[in-house]
Amino acid sequence: MTKARTGIGHNKAAAWGALREEAARCTRCHLYEHATQTVFGEGPVDARMMFVGEQPGDQEDLAGRPFVGPAGLMFDKAIGVAGIDRSTVYVTNAVKHFKFEPRGKRRIHSKPDAGEIRACRWWYEQERLLVKPDMTVALGATAARQMLGKVVTISGSRGRAIELAEGGLGWITIHPSFLLRMPDKSRAEEEFAAFVEDLKGAAKALG
Ligand code: SF4
Repeated sequence: MTKARTGIGHNKAAAWGALREEAARCTRCHLYEHATQTVFGEGPVDARMMFVGEQPGDQEDLAGRPFVGPAGLMFDKAIGVAGIDRSTVYVTNAVKHFKFEPRGKRRIHSKPDAGEIRACRWWYEQERLLVKPDMTVALGATAARQMLGKVVTISGSRGRAIELAEGGLGWITIHPSFLLRMPDKSRAEEEFAAFVEDLKGAAKALG
């Protein structure tokens, strides 16, 4: 099980609060125009593990918190099975505003493009500079792209520690929403088990 570092300084928490407030007013790209609010990362600012998703979903956009929708519940379940305590990890997204297509009363998730990912990289970098995680786990292709600054395939890069140029280790795995989209139950169970193994591997590499 991972543990947050102890002895968090008041200054670090204050710096995180200021950063979050600044992000709440971000207009670096057009995504703020239709979303409800910026969904900043959350968790201990001295966490040793940082998890990065793609972008907030419909429920996260309304709640203003990351990983609280269906994919977040799947994430909670998987890290629980992997023996990782969510209260000790920092969770955030590569892009901090919800991008969607309106369909009647529904808002359908729309993938952020390269320009939006690049624009939001500033916030991801600020979070990393502050938290200084020993292990950053990218959940899905958008997060992996944000973490490495280039396009990679999940199948070709998942499940192994990667030395990050800015320090610390990186790890790539699937986004939990992938599991929610699988119609075949036995295949979904296999993929869930593989996801848990990736998470266990990341925690083990952390030491
Ligand atoms: S998605 Fe990121 S860069 Fe774009 S407005 Fe929101 S916080 Fe700013």
